Amino acid sequence: MPGRRTGRPQGGPPTEPAGALAQPGGSRTRRPPPVWFFDLDNTLHDASHAIFRAINGRMTDYVERHLRVDREQANQLRLTYWRRYGATMLGLMRHHAVDPHHFLRETHDFDVAGLLRAERGLARLFARLPGRKVLLTNAPGAYADDILRALGLHRRVLARYAIEQMRLHRIFRPKPSRSMLRHMLARERVPRGAAILVEDSTANLRSARAVGFRTVLVFGHSRAPSRLNSGRQFGLRVRSVRELPRAHARLRG
Ligand SMILES: [Mg+2]
Repeated sequence: MPGRRTGRPQGGPPTEPAGALAQPGGSRTRRPPPVWFFDLDNTLHDASHAIFRAINGRMTDYVERHLRVDREQANQLRLTYWRRYGATMLGLMRHHAVDPHHFLRETHDFDVAGLLRAERGLARLFARLPGRKVLLTNAPGAYADDILRALGLHRRVLARYAIEQMRLHRIFRPKPSRSMLRHMLARERVPRGAAILVEDSTANLRSARAVGFRTVLVFGHSRAPSRLNSGRQFGLRVRSVRELPRAHARLRG
């Protein structure tokens, strides 16, 4: 089962479907209502403003303390594992037998609401956007719940998948794992062509597109200038999720 970040999708992604689905017999039918899968950090709020700094600082502290390395080495390890496995936690589990639940608790133990920066009116936006909404984040569940509550979205997003739920056969498979993304489509009983992933990570979007999601790149919270020019291969690029109700029509083709 492929799980780790493997670079480019193999076999070529399916083309983004148009507003109607082609059927094998040549007839066309209306697309089912969309099922929106939303990433959390730098998609629904600006994590680069302060929250990432708080998390990264705590992760570096954790590595320093538990692996007994100096700060510079701890910071390097944090980054290396994040790049290699998509989550620092996975590298710490694999190479240092770190307890993932302890790690997640310790590194997200702060008042998120105090550091949160987000656009206003997201609850109204979600109410207006047709279709079911699902949260799909590599962050821990308690942290995700706190952010959703602070954004006023906790009643709008009832299906939530945090990193604790991204396990297949007891092995953690966070985004961009294609097997996990396929599993989510089945678990949420998403009709073919209905799933849309809204994300700031191009690696995650590429995987999602390869397994049949339509894709929306949110680039407004990214601090990487290259991001502004990337993502043309996705179904839609938006600066903010607030553009979705109008831009959604363009995604349909
Ligand atoms: Mg993100």
